Amino acid sequence: MIHSIPELPYPHDALSPVLSAETIEYHYGKHFQTYIDNLNKLVEDSPYEDMEIDEIVMKAGGAVFNNAAQAWNHDFYFQTLVPGGTEMPEILEEKIVKAFGSTADFKADFIKAAATLFGSGWAWLCEDKEENLVITQTQNAENPMTQGLKPLLTVDVWEHAYYIDYRNRRAAYLEALWDIIDWKKVAGRL
Ligand code: MN
Repeated sequence: MIHSIPELPYPHDALSPVLSAETIEYHYGKHFQTYIDNLNKLVEDSPYEDMEIDEIVMKAGGAVFNNAAQAWNHDFYFQTLVPGGTEMPEILEEKIVKAFGSTADFKADFIKAAATLFGSGWAWLCEDKEENLVITQTQNAENPMTQGLKPLLTVDVWEHAYYIDYRNRRAAYLEALWDIIDWKKVAGRL
């Protein structure tokens, strides 16, 4: 199976000024593409050759895992963004209020988790086996599916995600990104 980069559901300049076209061209067009290209090379003639990316994430280790998980994580991240954002559906808001107290508390907790992750990685909103919402951090390519959690939302906090537009200001990137999250899509993953 040859993996290919999924198309973005918006033009490269549509998320500006939160994310510039240049950021999308590098992050989606080069970083994400490279994970896909590496994955295709690594799985050729391997036990992972005929697996979908989510199955490889659950079964592989090492370089195969790293490239498959980065491919999965980037697709999930880019598919959750939309120009102008969307209103949070009630079903999601109720679960967020139950878990974190309020949507404002959730935003603060999520941004804190993303801002304080040391080095490269991802911040996540997930649903656990009891269907409670939890915020988690993962290092590098790690993905919470391997810990039995269902991802609903992720934010990329590798420097390549924000360095063109925000330089070292990760917190400014996170604050701005909040305005282009597609909460309808997040709720649809419950
Ligand atoms: Mn990235």
